[in-house]
Amino acid sequence: MPELPEVETIRRDLEKEVVGRRIKEVDVKGKRSIRRHKSAPEFKKNLEGRKVASIRRAGKYLLLGLEGDDVLVVHLGMSGQLLRSKSLKEPLNRHTHVVITFTQGGQLRFVDPRTFGEMFVTSLGELDAQVPELAHLGFDPLDEVMSWTRFGQMLAGRHVGLKTLLMDQKFVAGIGNIYSDEILFAAGLRYDRYSDSLSSQEIRRLYRSMVETLSEAVKARGSSLADEQYRDLYGETGDYQGQHQVYDREGKPCRRCRNAVVRVKLNGRSAFLCEHCQI
Ligand SMILES: [Zn+2]
Repeated sequence: MPELPEVETIRRDLEKEVVGRRIKEVDVKGKRSIRRHKSAPEFKKNLEGRKVASIRRAGKYLLLGLEGDDVLVVHLGMSGQLLRSKSLKEPLNRHTHVVITFTQGGQLRFVDPRTFGEMFVTSLGELDAQVPELAHLGFDPLDEVMSWTRFGQMLAGRHVGLKTLLMDQKFVAGIGNIYSDEILFAAGLRYDRYSDSLSSQEIRRLYRSMVETLSEAVKARGSSLADEQYRDLYGETGDYQGQHQVYDREGKPCRRCRNAVVRVKLNGRSAFLCEHCQI
């Protein structure tokens, strides 16, 4: 599932390629992707003829501001891709559910094999009611600078394992399974350390690791796993997977100490860690 670095990579690409363009036509091929709308014509009517005025990211959501005060919300779900197509003649992927054609040429295509992703248009005023998760979203580690003392107070206010807390979207926005493991390795902390047990040095290390890991991953344009389902706007895979220290590296030598990386079960998911480097 795309996390903050992947969604931020797509946001930056959309800023370059889509903001300022006017939507000429919308073609809906898969209704599940626009399931919040009563019908495909209703979804189309909200978009056709309008200009994309802005793009921002909230957690793992992409919010394309339209002229007026409506917003096109995109969530990629497990396997969604937004792909820029320069030519209308490029063949459609068979999992293409929505095609947006711009007046100046080119298209934006929403491809989603597993159909957990979605797109819908709403007004800014209705946004929080439509996506309650957005109303309660935690701080954004890339957009918001926070003092480590404030971060320490937030950690101390909870009594929960660090991986679970990092993945809690109400605590911090945009972090999932991959980056929580990578951040905790960089910080030298175990997934099950309680948030209120950290020394001030550990709090600083965790904060720094979170910001640095996510920034590096954005620089490398995100992580594409073996299924290669994450693609950027140009259909390219990310490069950060080659820099993963522990995620999906069970049994492989830790890049720091050469002991084997282990995998443990946690709430029905896996956590990967080096038991020598993380305490
Ligand atoms: Zn190690």
